[in-house]
Amino acid sequence: MSYVDEVLAAVKMKNAHEPEFLQAVTEVLESIRAVVDANEEKYRKVALLERLVEPDRIITFRVPWTDDKGEVHVQRGYRVQFNNAIGPYKGGLRFHPSVYQGILKFLGFEQVFKNALTTLPIGGGKGGSDFDPHGKSDAEVMRFCQAFMTELYKYVGADIDVPAGDIGVGGREVGYLFGQYKRITNSYEGMLTGKGLTFGGSLIRTQATGYGLLYHTEEILRLNGQKLEGATCVVSGAGNVAIYAIEKAQQLGAKVVTCSDSTGWIYDPDGIDVAVLKEVKEVMRARLTEYKAARPNAEYHEGKGVWTVKCDYAFPCATQNELDIEDAKALAANGCKGVFEGANMPTTLEATTYIQKNGMLFTPGKASNAGGVATSALEMSQNSERLSWSAEEVDAKLKSIMYGIADTIASAAERYGMKGNYVAGANIAGFEKVAEAMIAQGVY
Ligand code: NDP
Repeated sequence: MSYVDEVLAAVKMKNAHEPEFLQAVTEVLESIRAVVDANEEKYRKVALLERLVEPDRIITFRVPWTDDKGEVHVQRGYRVQFNNAIGPYKGGLRFHPSVYQGILKFLGFEQVFKNALTTLPIGGGKGGSDFDPHGKSDAEVMRFCQAFMTELYKYVGADIDVPAGDIGVGGREVGYLFGQYKRITNSYEGMLTGKGLTFGGSLIRTQATGYGLLYHTEEILRLNGQKLEGATCVVSGAGNVAIYAIEKAQQLGAKVVTCSDSTGWIYDPDGIDVAVLKEVKEVMRARLTEYKAARPNAEYHEGKGVWTVKCDYAFPCATQNELDIEDAKALAANGCKGVFEGANMPTTLEATTYIQKNGMLFTPGKASNAGGVATSALEMSQNSERLSWSAEEVDAKLKSIMYGIADTIASAAERYGMKGNYVAGANIAGFEKVAEAMIAQGVY
């Protein structure tokens, strides 16, 4: 049995109850097979793969909080510190009822490779809670965040582990979390990113994942003789990533006709009005039915359906496994030429394979959505030097990082005879960097 197959078999046995983690590990190990085969003895000697698939540590804790009626609730909190071979653990916090250890292990594992691709000195981690911020008052969200940080503060720090936002954790939550860390530790340090601009946040961080996704897409399209200008695009999600992906796609001359949330989706033939979308989602925190109310020409549909709309390019920006094989077939039938992941692992393995085999371009989230964490690392740099860079400076750095990632994954795929397979390219390039750092630092 090959080294990859041995490790995959062991991972499947030990983590049978964590399907998302198995999916992520399978995708990565399958696509780095050629590299592992070429270096088998060297990697086996130090149990490199076995160490790579096991988090450094997982911290779980109780989070008791009191609602506005005085009732006490108990949530579960987590931080998965996956790998710090190339820098302090870095990765977001997710507050969503679906959160459990397996989701955070998958996200933490992906983060290790993504962070390596940014070229910046950051390791991989992820955390969160099964708390659902939907329908909670600001005061309830604040009390929850304070309770969460009251335990998490023991394990994080500017040179140890630097969390950020993710699903359900935006600027409001990061502010409350930062305030509690400062209060408990009596120290003012850049131990969280995505902070408000008045207390150490970086310009462009809010926009970074969505903007970065489009910069990355621009470069991949250029490498393939295609362009965004004049293209029709579909986007799923209506959160942080989706909103700024839509905004940048439109700035680059594309027309985006859809967005979605967990209850329904919008088709706007005139192109999504980003100002209205921001008002509905960032200010009112309301459902997309409010978007329809403000844009009578748009259609609102319950459930899922974005991938049935005719488009040139598709951007899944909501959540994991939201684009399955049927969706991939619908996209292909409608002439879609490329899928670029804004969310983490939004495309199932089966759908990914179908997309690649049917001649569409495909880039994995760990490459195409790395702009968020890259800009978080730029926020860390600004905090360390106690300076703030201009929006132009941060945006230029983001663009150059995203172009760089596109070129790196394209050339890594080519080096191993898999031209155009950006999944393999991303995994190989990320893996090579982390593997070298792990080997250099000895067995630990
Ligand atoms: P937000 O919470 O801001 O938005 C998430 C969006 O997806 C919302 O519109 C939400 O709908 C929808 N959604 C969430 N869960 C589901 C579900 N189970 N089914 C259908 N729709 C769902 O999160 P982000 O935009 O920050 O994150 C989106 C994705 O991007 C995630 O995969 C995240 O890990 C990834 N990502 C985020 C980064 C960032 O910087 N924020 C960086 C890199 C990756 P509703 O409004 O109804 O909740």
